[in-house]
Amino acid sequence: MSLLVVGSVAFDGIESPYGKEERIIGGAATYFALSASYFTHVNLVGIVGDDFTAQDEQIFRGRKIDTTGLERASGKCFFWAGRYSENLNERVTLITELNVFAGFNPRLPAKYTDSKYVFLANIAPNLQGSVLHQVKRRPKVVALDTMNYWIERTLDDLKETLKHIDILVINDSETRQLSNEHNLLRAAKHIFKLGPSALVIKRGEYGALLVDKYGVFCVPAVPLEEPHDPTGAGDAFAGGFMGYLAGAGKHDDAHLRRAMVYGTVMGSFTVEEFGPRRLVRLKSKEIHARARHILKLSQFKL
Ligand code: AMP
Repeated sequence: MSLLVVGSVAFDGIESPYGKEERIIGGAATYFALSASYFTHVNLVGIVGDDFTAQDEQIFRGRKIDTTGLERASGKCFFWAGRYSENLNERVTLITELNVFAGFNPRLPAKYTDSKYVFLANIAPNLQGSVLHQVKRRPKVVALDTMNYWIERTLDDLKETLKHIDILVINDSETRQLSNEHNLLRAAKHIFKLGPSALVIKRGEYGALLVDKYGVFCVPAVPLEEPHDPTGAGDAFAGGFMGYLAGAGKHDDAHLRRAMVYGTVMGSFTVEEFGPRRLVRLKSKEIHARARHILKLSQFKL
């Protein structure tokens, strides 16, 4: 089943101990769509400026990604720059320029309005809400990602949008910030009162946690010898997670668990190289091999 995503399509500046990129294609919706397209058909809603060339757009070509919903405006693309610490676990945002995003009013192409799976990637919460309201019937699964930038600036809008979603997919520090709870299980209880019935907590090199009515499920991160750039790993995780669910058309406990594994797989590939470089040249058999690797990593006998 097809999957709708709205979020940023951007240029990023990235500094990590392994190198530096002044301007590389990024954005939450970019990473999400590239990742999810290995599992299902993706409809992309976003906005780019006139600095986004036909050559840049090639990144979406030859994949199961429909870009009818990618609006072009005069001005510059969203630009974000960040720097990672020595161990890649911390990141400081150096620049956030909204540019064309500042005047964005997303409109869904008619063919996207009956989407059954929806991912509201990192973008202003009122825009996430506006996209969701344009979907005609209640989708099977609506998931949302956000970040400290929006939690700090637009908390009321975020709380309004959270009322209408099923799964919140955020990292551990955002979970704590949103709930004012340090303990992640207590934080989950707090977040369930805001609307979502499931919470996926991305914990970088410590793996990911799913908390929902079935209980708690953990997936370890894939230990990597040479991680280079964590940018977009969270969005690629979300793309693998939602892409798997939409591809299967089911979201019972067994499918949610497998979705967590495929999310972890896609995030792990993303950090291997700068920007989306590794993500764009993945082979399906590499994806499944890594999922089997995760199974082995955590299997034991009692
Ligand atoms: P992640 O590493 O998963 O947090 O995602 C990084 C991506 O999010 C980058 O490619 C950025 O372009 C994008 N990004 C950073 N800040 C924002 C923001 N405030 N709103 C939307 N997208 C953002």
